[in-house]
Amino acid sequence: MVYQALYRRWRPKTFSAVVGQEAITETLKNAIKRQQISHAFLFAGPRGTGKTSCAKIFAKALNCTNLQDGEPCNQCPNCLAADHGAMNDLLEIDAASNNGVDEIRNIRDKVKYAPTQGKYKIYIIDEVHMLSIGAFNALLKTLEEPPQNVVFILATTELQKVPATIISRTQRFQFKRISNDALITRMKFILDQEKITYDPKALSVVAQVADGGMRDALSILDQLLSYDGTNVKYEDALQLTGFAAQEQIEALLLILLKHDPAAALQKVQQLLKDGAMPKNILDELIDLSARALLALQADIQTQFLTSDFIQKLKPYPQSAFSNLIELANTALTDLRYTNQQRVPLDVFLVKACQEDVPEKAALKSGVSRSDFDALNQKVIALTQKFQERRADQSVSVSVQNTAKTPEPSKSENRQAVYQVLEHATRQDLNAVKDIWPDLLSTLGVSQRALLDVLEPVAASPTKIVLKCQYELWFERANKDNALLEHVTQEIAKLTKHDYHLVLIADSAWLKVRQAFVESHKKELLAQKHPTAVQPETSKADDEKKEEIVTKAKALFGDAAHIHD
Ligand SMILES: [Zn+2]
Repeated sequence: MVYQALYRRWRPKTFSAVVGQEAITETLKNAIKRQQISHAFLFAGPRGTGKTSCAKIFAKALNCTNLQDGEPCNQCPNCLAADHGAMNDLLEIDAASNNGVDEIRNIRDKVKYAPTQGKYKIYIIDEVHMLSIGAFNALLKTLEEPPQNVVFILATTELQKVPATIISRTQRFQFKRISNDALITRMKFILDQEKITYDPKALSVVAQVADGGMRDALSILDQLLSYDGTNVKYEDALQLTGFAAQEQIEALLLILLKHDPAAALQKVQQLLKDGAMPKNILDELIDLSARALLALQADIQTQFLTSDFIQKLKPYPQSAFSNLIELANTALTDLRYTNQQRVPLDVFLVKACQEDVPEKAALKSGVSRSDFDALNQKVIALTQKFQERRADQSVSVSVQNTAKTPEPSKSENRQAVYQVLEHATRQDLNAVKDIWPDLLSTLGVSQRALLDVLEPVAASPTKIVLKCQYELWFERANKDNALLEHVTQEIAKLTKHDYHLVLIADSAWLKVRQAFVESHKKELLAQKHPTAVQPETSKADDEKKEEIVTKAKALFGDAAHIHD
């Protein structure tokens, strides 16, 4: 027997079997009952939320000869023909594979003929946003003068790509993501019917990962059943979905509450190594923080949190949890707009570990914020000195340590970067930038994460300046000799050229670069005219400034601001 995917086998055949879209299915049922049928419908919403199922049910109901309170009977010849794809009056087009004008013109030509089997001629166009411009225009002509008894049902996951002229001629329905509870209820129902046992915790993991899509939920279940066809296990669900186990997330939450960035980074690296995705980690943190907040506020014992864990949470203010939820939410939003999945997670960790530190410390000790800041600066400076001393003792490292902000090493720091800038060329920087993606691919997950926050910003024939995106990671990257040595070697291999690395924190880099451009105005100009250096008076100030900007641009690849 050929295995049929759960999603297909359990595709709803009536409106009442559609999960989580009650408002829409009720409206469609009423339209059928009252025989008030528009010429065109537009079903918009995320994937797997029931758009195509509703389109099929609606199409069947339109031609059903034995309607059951607005539902198709699924037994009359028309219903059966529709189920078997043998209904001449029902045409389904997948615009993702047929985006040609011909297809739609074909519809336009045939649309004028009356339906043969049923009362209505129905066209379902799935993923309608994929139609070409020509096809949209052809469709629009048909929608402008719709023949009698023709119904178009357009479905799309990307409403913003559908021309407004089309949207305005349809009755629009917005499908929502299905709630986790509704997904779980449906999964339980299906598994019970299939006589498959399950761990309820596994289903809640599946529901979270499915993100409101029934199709995704059921295809994950299908994959889990390929491990063990009779039982859905929690461990399998964790492994398959890359969902971090709750204990790990509990540990991470405690670390974040303690504002320990190093431990947080380490824990997250471990989770990523175990296969968790940044999105899962953030989702679970939100979920856990929300539950913790509820447990603390209402003193409710929830089935998910052990009393031991709740005890550990008690010393922290409730604002700390809502803060974390807010920060994680921002990171989740950012995740949707980037391919660099690690960056929003890193930003979240940094912020989560920084937030509230001064206030909290001040609150406890009664010191003012400025006192705290001063103290903090001192600690940073001392740590830095200690690190430098240790770095001086180790001779094998090919890396020059550059200090972050503290006073004693500020000038040395500048000098190191200055030396590179004095001889920087665009070619060297391009050479390094070109091989950067290849370099990333030679690293393991955790190392890559660290290198993700570093960016080559200038290069001379012998040295590269790497800017570190976040102050907090700067120290960590600068101390990671194994990483820096590996990077140095790989760059040499890939560029066939030896470069030394100079690391600098983001804020310091901007200052150094600015100062360099300021103090090298003359040289930069001279480089542009190496044969004849023009006397300064012969040029208008504006013109000079512009040349400096152009020159700096050539060097750094972006605009450097010049202040007089
Ligand atoms: Zn029927």
